[in-house]
Amino acid sequence: MAVIVQKFGGSSVADAPSIQRVARRICDTKGHGHDVVVVVSAMGDTTDDLLDLANQVSPDPPGRELDMLLTAGERMSMALLAMAIHDLGYEARSYTGSQAGLITDSAHGRARIIDVTPGRIQGALDDGAIAIVAGFQGVSYDSKDVTTLGRGGSDTTAVALAAALDAEVCEIYTDVDGIFTADPRVVSRASKVGRASYEEMLELAAAGAKVLHLRCVEYARRSDIPIHVRSTFSPTEGTWVVADPTAGGTMEQPIIAGVAADLNDAKITIIGVPDRPGEAAAIFRALAVASVNVDMIVQNVSAEATGRTDVTFTCPKGDMARALQALLDAQGSIGFERLTSDEGIAKVSLVGAGMRSHPGVSATFFEALSEADVNVEMISTSEIRISIVTRTESANAALQAVHTAFGLDADGEAVVYAGTGR
Ligand code: ASP
Ligand code: MG
Repeated sequence: MAVIVQKFGGSSVADAPSIQRVARRICDTKGHGHDVVVVVSAMGDTTDDLLDLANQVSPDPPGRELDMLLTAGERMSMALLAMAIHDLGYEARSYTGSQAGLITDSAHGRARIIDVTPGRIQGALDDGAIAIVAGFQGVSYDSKDVTTLGRGGSDTTAVALAAALDAEVCEIYTDVDGIFTADPRVVSRASKVGRASYEEMLELAAAGAKVLHLRCVEYARRSDIPIHVRSTFSPTEGTWVVADPTAGGTMEQPIIAGVAADLNDAKITIIGVPDRPGEAAAIFRALAVASVNVDMIVQNVSAEATGRTDVTFTCPKGDMARALQALLDAQGSIGFERLTSDEGIAKVSLVGAGMRSHPGVSATFFEALSEADVNVEMISTSEIRISIVTRTESANAALQAVHTAFGLDADGEAVVYAGTGR
């Protein structure tokens, strides 16, 4: 029998009636003759509330205890969901991540899955029961302590289980109808993407689109598990994320999969770097040692007169202080003049596998930005993505303009059913 993994996010199980609605949806799938494994997130904003609580008790809670606390959120929803399913006449058994065999390393708060041993889940399925698994958590192979995978990690739990159980599909239920060509909360005429490739989703996730967790898509690509992102609140078909969206059809791949903005980065400029071999290596080694996640990098042409250049890069705002300190510590050996930093930036990206084979994409992109009076501060590209850095205030206008320029605007407005979109 085909195994289907269904993952329900926090906004889908925010209160008792929502949990009952999700239970009906699950029983419906079970009633169609599938083996069903369900992964749930914590109810509504529970994870944030627990984090707030931890910070009220202690300014710097130990990772082990924080993980123990946060995993309680998913435990609540899994047990409540199993109860609601029982009331509908089906057998359901809930399991913590540890019980479900999600084995991780011991990096609290950002653990990586190293193995999945779903013996108990398979046993439940063999008994005809629906298995409910707490998302975003596991158990450390070394320390045997409870771990969490990082915010939004339930998607990754779902794909990991789907891979281990050789599921037909991993369905990710959310509060919108699927993956959109832009965040429908910003671009009201965003349209639903029918099918997209893993690589497009990886680029969109890295570009700041908040629909799917980056690691979940990486995992799905590695295991070739089709992901179906769809709404909890409506029966309509959502977005399929697969290896090759054009497979099996004559459909041509759309040029653009979507646009996204990321407001979480900061920009640092290193002014007056001596223009000689080894300088960039010294800079980025110092940043690496300080665990700074560098994204875009630009070096300007050196002014011949001075023999010096400026190097600008972006990194998460949370890494900025560490980056500045690491560079100052290395100033003697690198020999730059000074540093500036800027948190008022946004990264705006356009992603689409079709840009490989269609000329003129960059021209249309930059013309749209110019017509919207958006100033471009940095540019970076991959084979299937163009990103720019601009002012935070320009991000929404940039998204709208580019969305329209590439003909992505839908006829009607996208439906947002509930939730905060996290
Ligand atoms: N409850 C966790 C969070 O809010 C995990 C998840 O929702 O995927 O980050
Ligand atoms: Mg959540």
